[in-house]
Amino acid sequence: MAGEPQDDCLFCKIVAGTVPATIVRQTETTVAFRDINPQAPTHVLVIPKAHYENAAALAAADPGLTADVLREAQAVADEEKLDSYRLVFNTGSGAGQTVWHVHGHILGGRGLEWPPG
Ligand code: 5GP
Ligand code: ZN
Repeated sequence: MAGEPQDDCLFCKIVAGTVPATIVRQTETTVAFRDINPQAPTHVLVIPKAHYENAAALAAADPGLTADVLREAQAVADEEKLDSYRLVFNTGSGAGQTVWHVHGHILGGRGLEWPPG
């Protein structure tokens, strides 16, 4: 069922605590943790605890939870003292998505070129 934990999902395991992660913030509905392979001085992933494959699926199923994720991204940026940051939701393997549990990358602490590579 939509939103239910998936046995084969790495980020559902991080939510459950069966895979360790460096958690920076947690709410009733979201978790934010440091990326294992950081691409910037701050590289934090923010996810809903519920499993949705990508941002579009999350937004279609639960606008309130989508807003929770976006609010938490700003809360992480505030805690990390980022004036500017990039929030990225890679969607589809052609865009680099490798984990099929929606996650926003919060990237900051260095210059970020636009357009990205
Ligand atoms: P994607 O490529 O799907 O947009 O992003 C997946 C991200 O998850 C990558 O940046 C990758 O470094 C990160 N990642 C993969 N495995 C782990 C893990 O076990 N722990 C953490 N904290 N991050 C992970
Ligand atoms: Zn999941």
